[in-house]
Amino acid sequence: MSHRIHNFCAGPAVLPEAVLRQAQTDILDLEGTGIGVLEHSHRGKAFARVRDDAEAACRSLANIPDDYDVLFLQGGASHQFAMIPLNLLPDGATADFVVTGTWAKKAMKEAASIGAVHVAATGEDDSFHRLPDPESLRWSAGPAYAHVTTNNTIVGTEWAALPPTPEGVPLVADMSSDIFSRPLDISQFGLIYAGAQKNLGPSGIALIIIRKDLVERGRDTLPAILQYRTHAKANSLFNTPPTFGVYVMGKVFRWIEAEGGLKGMAERNGAKAQLLYDFLDASSFFRGTADPASRSLMNVCFRAPTESLEAEFIAEAARQGLDGLKGHRSVGGMRASIYNACSLESVQALVSALEAFETTHRGALAG
Ligand SMILES: *Cc1c(COP(=O)(O)O)cnc(C)c1O
Repeated sequence: MSHRIHNFCAGPAVLPEAVLRQAQTDILDLEGTGIGVLEHSHRGKAFARVRDDAEAACRSLANIPDDYDVLFLQGGASHQFAMIPLNLLPDGATADFVVTGTWAKKAMKEAASIGAVHVAATGEDDSFHRLPDPESLRWSAGPAYAHVTTNNTIVGTEWAALPPTPEGVPLVADMSSDIFSRPLDISQFGLIYAGAQKNLGPSGIALIIIRKDLVERGRDTLPAILQYRTHAKANSLFNTPPTFGVYVMGKVFRWIEAEGGLKGMAERNGAKAQLLYDFLDASSFFRGTADPASRSLMNVCFRAPTESLEAEFIAEAARQGLDGLKGHRSVGGMRASIYNACSLESVQALVSALEAFETTHRGALAG
């Protein structure tokens, strides 16, 4: 019998157990074909059904308008950091970035290797613990696109509502760590991208939702594999796609749908985050690090009074079957990633462990 513990890892992250059980079956035999999902040709009928269902489920879940393409591409979000400017940043144009964390910086750095970039705002002075005031954003004149990171995985901040972007400028959003965690209006965006390993599936694949007029913008001199046009025309089957990733994403979309869709996810995620933040706010021992108005519902970052107590808590939690709580190596402390597939029970177990640790160690600290 397999046994599963509470997984708070930032990514690859916990997946819905129902999806993993279905995958277990389908790895041996996909829908009575006698061939497992890993072994089917990407050009065969069985995989065509898998791919088509993944796209259909994605479209209905997020109510994606017909003038958007849905792409499943290799290489994760970092690959998109390069592909986006290659396709959308022509010579002489500028791409604007709202710099809210490490991933936003990396996205901007890649764009800067291809064309001009402009910082509309940065939270670096506050170590990214606070999102910039939307009023403080300063856009360049007529940028090719405006780039935002909706959830900052490393520091645990998330835009509750996106900052306003200039009229008519395509909004490009890295949603790697909060995609489909709440309802969203696709028509606000020019391009949405997300590495799958936080909220959607295994690593190595990204979901891209792109408005069709932007698909056509890639320069003709780009290698075919790097053009969105190529993949849109080929239904993401230009070359062998990560078939298993597409399969898992499709099953995750169907799982979200069964759990009440994006509204259901928002309720579930709100309840989990509130439980944890309420505990942290009431604690005189642990404390959350993100500015309360900027808090992420997906990645909850917090500290104990000393680094040695943090190490002790992480070790104690691991003994109790709570894993993945170490903060990102660049910021230290602790981080609980409580993505869609993380259950309320897991968060309850974490709060109990935090309470017990606080009770045992508070006295020692005072003495
Ligand atoms: C994890 C993450 C990335 C990087 O994803 P890869 O698939 O490893 O390239 C980019 N952006 C955000 C917001 C992330 O959380």
